Amino acid sequence: LPTVILVGRPNVGKSALFNRFIRRREALVYNTPADHVTRDVREGIAKLGDLRFKVLDSAGLEMAASSGSILDRTAEMTANVLARSQFAIFLIDVRDGLQPLDLEVGKWLRRHAPGIMTILVMNKSESLDDQTGFFTAAAGEAYKLGYGDPIPISAETGLGMAELYEALRPLLEGYMLHILSEKESQETQDTISSEDKECKLPLQLAIVGRPNVGKSTLLNALLQQNRVLTGPEAGLTRDSVRADFQFQERTIYLVDTAGWLQRTKQEKGPASLSVMQSRKSLMRAHVVALVLDAEEVAKARSSMKHAEVVIARRAIEEGRGLVVIVNKMDLLTGKQNSKLYEKVIKVVPEEIQTAIPQVTGIPVVFVSALEGRGRIAVMRQVVSTYEKWCLRLSTSRLNRWLHKVMRRHSWKDQAAQPKVKYFTQVKARPPTFVAFVSGKTPLTDTDTRFLTKSLKEDFDMGGIPIRIMQRAIP
Ligand code: GDP
Repeated sequence: LPTVILVGRPNVGKSALFNRFIRRREALVYNTPADHVTRDVREGIAKLGDLRFKVLDSAGLEMAASSGSILDRTAEMTANVLARSQFAIFLIDVRDGLQPLDLEVGKWLRRHAPGIMTILVMNKSESLDDQTGFFTAAAGEAYKLGYGDPIPISAETGLGMAELYEALRPLLEGYMLHILSEKESQETQDTISSEDKECKLPLQLAIVGRPNVGKSTLLNALLQQNRVLTGPEAGLTRDSVRADFQFQERTIYLVDTAGWLQRTKQEKGPASLSVMQSRKSLMRAHVVALVLDAEEVAKARSSMKHAEVVIARRAIEEGRGLVVIVNKMDLLTGKQNSKLYEKVIKVVPEEIQTAIPQVTGIPVVFVSALEGRGRIAVMRQVVSTYEKWCLRLSTSRLNRWLHKVMRRHSWKDQAAQPKVKYFTQVKARPPTFVAFVSGKTPLTDTDTRFLTKSLKEDFDMGGIPIRIMQRAIP
């Protein structure tokens, strides 16, 4: 499902809107301790008319209202949460008018989630009538946020929900499968259950990265037991690691961990990534978690060293899911580091995208393995990447999609337009498709890229490699 995050300064009514969206359905609360205060992020399945989407209430991520800045751990958590969302609903309080903090939120959203599509709403509009012109003035002001015309709503009374629906629908419609007629809803259920079956198999995870980025420490945090010894001294890691664990009823099997730990410890220096280049270990993994060192990222010109780019590319080439983990975020806390901190949060997702242009939406998670923070976020991304990797789409659904998507694209030269008659998924893990093309015009690389991109966007398959093959038919 597409994910919509509710953002806004405190007390604008995020939770009220969240509650309206999920009605009586259960919300899942997960918390991440930050600054020793537990901050909750609520997550639920929202229903608005015939739209279904996942909604996240960021109320728990309240920023430091006093300073007006959103830094440090809260920001890091929020960045993790934002990475999971494709859409945002940005709330302001119409009665208060535009506050400096609203501008901060707007700026911050633009900075940290430039790709997120945002709908601006003016909450608490229930008691307003426009006789006084107040309303028009408020809307004019809100426009300055740069998120278009605001939609007046009331999370309390339900005013404006139809307008919100109209605004959300085209966005979610890009996602195709989320506007569910009863029939499709059934079909989705079927797909999910068959996909579940394959996904029930143990998830094979490889944790890779240069020496001393904190792989062992992260592993300990994941295992939540000191079964792997870590430390600056070489040779500490034993190969008697029992490296599998459970996460939310799922068995995670760590690939070749003992082996690579040993070898990386022995051969220090950049050359040691050759270990990870061993295709064998990558081939055995379903998901590859590439660990980077936040401090190195902050100081270096480019966040990824050559060896890291190589490994990331290789993982994708081998058809694995990829998750990037930026460790040691704790070294960048404090006011004096805020610039570095912001830089890291910004540049890593950008650079990974540049390094691997063929796969969009590779998840990046910011953690401190030493302090045990971000463990849940890492595992959620790993599992979600795995699930996408296992995804199976029914042929009927793919062909409905194909029909729409071919109309969305225009070919300069009509004759160059390939006649794709039929589209089907032949394999999952990773998702592999075949396009049946008739006539004399085969799919060009550009066509394939277009289809790949659309598949990714419409079926939320970011961060994983997708393959499309073609067959000529008469
Ligand atoms: P590996 O070679 O990638 O397995 O790295 P280790 O897990 O052995 O960690 C190398 C060093 O970095 C050790 O001294 C760890 O204590 C330290 N370290 C690991 N994770 C973190 C972290 O999140 N924050 C900080 N400050 N240090 C860390």
